[in-house]
Amino acid sequence: MSSIMEGTPTISPIPTLDPEINEIRETTANIVTRYIIPNEERLDHRHPDRPRLAYEIQENVKKAGLWAPHLPKEYGGMGIGFMKHAYMNEVLAWSPYSSPLFGVVAPDSGNQTILVKYGTEEQKKTWLEPLIRGEIRSCFSMTEPDAPGSNPYAIQTRAVRDGDEWVINGRKWFTSGAKGAAFAIVMCRTEEDDGAGGVRNKMTQIIVPTDTPGFKIERSVPVWGRDSNHCEITYDNVRVPVTNQLGRTGTGHQAAQDRLGAGRVFHCMNSVGQMWRAFDLMVRRSIDREVHGGKLETKQFIQGFIADSYIDIMAARLMTIHTAEIIDSGTGDVRTNISAIKIFVPAAMERVVDRAIQVYGAMGVSGDTPLSGMYTGARTLRIADGPDEVHRVLIAKNVLKRYHDGMAWDFGV
Ligand SMILES: Cc1cc2nc3c(=O)[nH]c(=O)nc-3n(C[C@H](O)[C@H](O)[C@H](O)COP(=O)(O)OP(=O)(O)OC[C@H]3O[C@@H](n4cnc5c(N)ncnc54)[C@H](O)[C@@H]3O)c2cc1C
Repeated sequence: MSSIMEGTPTISPIPTLDPEINEIRETTANIVTRYIIPNEERLDHRHPDRPRLAYEIQENVKKAGLWAPHLPKEYGGMGIGFMKHAYMNEVLAWSPYSSPLFGVVAPDSGNQTILVKYGTEEQKKTWLEPLIRGEIRSCFSMTEPDAPGSNPYAIQTRAVRDGDEWVINGRKWFTSGAKGAAFAIVMCRTEEDDGAGGVRNKMTQIIVPTDTPGFKIERSVPVWGRDSNHCEITYDNVRVPVTNQLGRTGTGHQAAQDRLGAGRVFHCMNSVGQMWRAFDLMVRRSIDREVHGGKLETKQFIQGFIADSYIDIMAARLMTIHTAEIIDSGTGDVRTNISAIKIFVPAAMERVVDRAIQVYGAMGVSGDTPLSGMYTGARTLRIADGPDEVHRVLIAKNVLKRYHDGMAWDFGV
């Protein structure tokens, strides 16, 4: 591996930020640059050293008080609140291996958030506590092969009450992490007549232990030409107690929004962190690599890549921080801004990583840099958690509604 690969991004304290945020960022950066980036090869899931190494790094993370930034203190997390977590993510994401080492493992972290908010004491004891302790894993089962995931109201998997049980029938796919999971949180149609020609209680999330009769993993769907743990699952007369439902009947969509909505800011700050890493690798490579009688850095095409990437990162970063501030202050149009970053940031990341790959030549598409994984990750993000087009429609709808209501768009937000 070239000397350039050993480099890492750096950060200085941001004078306008709360000193505690700067401290969290600095400690996070120290752990990522000292323990994670130099060991990325050995942190790959197929490497025999991974379990021991991951355990050692996790112990360091816990000692530094940086474990589980998404969880409140009473559940063993950092309890740092929204802005601090967002700013921490930008640094944590320099390595694609970091998140699980800081106790944030998708989809478990999203399920933990839902269980904290909607779980009963019994559900927390049975599912949340062992999930946080890392004794079990979980998955979230919403998207279906036969219904468009971009329209959450189209879900066909149905749960019907039979005495004290829900009986679930349907087919899901892209349930990430299903193999090895102890339970799935399943989005089910539970609608019933409201007696006035309409329906009520449309969707409900229900906890299904994966050893329940009728729960069957049909296959792992290969993603980007590789085996994955994104599974297709049939639910065939799956019976669970009604006490397994999360929240009141009919609150499934709200719970899904709670899981995804503000969480998209964390995903975007994570993408910004990955962009900094790709940028850092690109610049170092352009200084190191000699082609056609000169360093890459002397070629104007490459200088253009560096400049355009800097612009993309700054735009993505400021949009995301702006959205985080709106959410944190409880003012402004949260949904429009979340949709805007959900479209812009993964696309900007795709462009930045694409340029970095180009600068690396063949090595850029190899497994010797983290770039190829970042590239497929960015492309996937333009579909997962709501495709670009759905968010574009939402932005236009919100803006137009404001004008139709007799107001102009408030450029303050
Ligand atoms: C790697 C990966 C992991 C995932 N993990 C999970 C998971 O753990 N659990 C889970 O439940 N789901 C998961 N998903 C599924 C993901 O959330 C869905 O793929 C997403 O919601 C889109 O649904 P769909 O694939 O059915 O696309 P569709 O809804 O069929 O949409 C297809 C395309 O239609 C276009 N389109 C849609 N609506 C409009 C519109 N209004 N106007 C114009 N064009 C439109 C868009 O281009 C869109 O990409 C995962 C997906 C991926 C790729």
